Amino acid sequence: MVAPVAVAEPGASGAPQLPVCLLVLGMAGSGKTTFVQRLTGHLRRQSSPSYVIYLDPAIHEVPFPANIHIRDTVKNKKVMKQYGLGPNGGIVTSLNLFATRFDQVMKFIEMAQNTSKYVLIDTPGQIEVFTWSASGTIITEALASSFPTVVIYVMDTSRSTNPVTFTSNMLYACSILYKTKLPFIVVMNKTDVIDHSFAVEWMQDFEDFQDALNQETTYISNLTHSVSLVLDEFYGSLRVVGFSAVVGTGFNELVQVTSAAEEYEREYRPEYECLKKSLAGAQSEQQKEQLDCLRKDRGSVASDTGTAKESLSPALDPSDLILTRGTLDEEDEEADSDTDDIDHRVTEESHEEPAFQNFMQESMPQYWQRNNK
Ligand code: GDP
Ligand code: MG
Repeated sequence: MVAPVAVAEPGASGAPQLPVCLLVLGMAGSGKTTFVQRLTGHLRRQSSPSYVIYLDPAIHEVPFPANIHIRDTVKNKKVMKQYGLGPNGGIVTSLNLFATRFDQVMKFIEMAQNTSKYVLIDTPGQIEVFTWSASGTIITEALASSFPTVVIYVMDTSRSTNPVTFTSNMLYACSILYKTKLPFIVVMNKTDVIDHSFAVEWMQDFEDFQDALNQETTYISNLTHSVSLVLDEFYGSLRVVGFSAVVGTGFNELVQVTSAAEEYEREYRPEYECLKKSLAGAQSEQQKEQLDCLRKDRGSVASDTGTAKESLSPALDPSDLILTRGTLDEEDEEADSDTDDIDHRVTEESHEEPAFQNFMQESMPQYWQRNNK
C-alpha cells in the first residue's frame, strides 16, 4: 500500500489551514491530465477530496470530475469563430477571457477551503499557452497571493533518455521556476516505461552526464554541455519525484508537496503579500476595464448572432460561473479534437500580447468593427 500524500494538519496557532494549490504544468503529452486524475482518485480514497480546476479549453471530455472546467465559461470553438482565430489563438484567447473572471474562481476556492485540502489545476496541453501568456501570469499570481501554491512540472521520462532532450526539458523547467517564482517539484512521469534513476544520476553526478553526452557527436551537444553547467546549480535544490500516472506509483515520494508548501509559507508568502498590496488598487481598476470590455462585447454579439449568451455568460455574478462535473451544453458545438491533435500547420496570427490589458485594448476595437459592419 502506498503512503498517502501527507495532508497538512491545522497550524499550531489553531488557525484553519489553507488549501495547497498544485499548479500542474508540462509539455503536451507528458501526462498532466493523467497525473491529476490519479492524484484526485488517491486523495479521494484518503478521505481528502481535492478541488479540481481544468484549464484546457480545447478538451471536451475530462476523464475525471472537475469542479471548474474552463469550457463551462468559455467555448473555444465559438471564440475561434467570433474572433476569427485558428486553434492556437482560440486557446490563448479563451484562457485570456477566462482569466478576467478568475476573481470569481478565487471565491469558489475560498468557499471550498473547508472541504478541500488541495486544489489541483490542470493546464492546457501546450505548455507555452499557460506559462508565457498574460493569463497564465494573472492566474498564477492570483492563486499564489492567496494560497500556498506549488508548481508540479510533469516530465515524460521515457522521452528524456537522450541527454540533449533531457537538458532541453530541464532548461524549460528551470525557466518556469524563475518565471513563476514558486516552490517547484519535477514529477518524472511514466516510470512504468523507464525508471527515472538514470535522470537522477545525471543530476547528481556531472561526470556521469558528461559520459552520456559524449556519445552525442552533434553540434548541439556543445550547447548542451554549456547549458548543463548552468543547470547543475538548479539541480541541487530541485525536488524530484518518480511517478507513474498510469500505474499509480510514486505517491510516497510525492509527500514532498508538504515541504514545498512549507517553503511557500516561509519564503514566498511574504513576497506575494507585498505584491498583493502593491497591486490591489491598480488591479481592481484594470479588472474593471477588462470586465467592462467583455460586457460590451457580449452585448454586441448577443444582438448580432444570438449566440454569445451561451458562450460567455452575460452576468458577472460569481454564481453564474457554474460548472462542475461535465454538465456541458454542447448542442451546437462540433466534436472538438484534443489540444494535442491540433493541426499546427494552420497559419494564424498570434493574438497574444505582452500584457493582457494590451490584448484587450487592441482586440476589442477590431472585434467591434467586424461585428458592426
Ligand atoms: P497531457 O497532455 O500532459 O495532459 O498528457 P495526458 O495525461 O493526456 O497523457 C498523454 C498520454 O500519455 C496518454 O496516452 C496517457 O495515457 C499517457 N500517459 C500518461 N501518464 C502515463 C504514465 O505514467 N505511463 C505511461 N506509460 N503512459 C502515460
Ligand atoms: Mg491534458
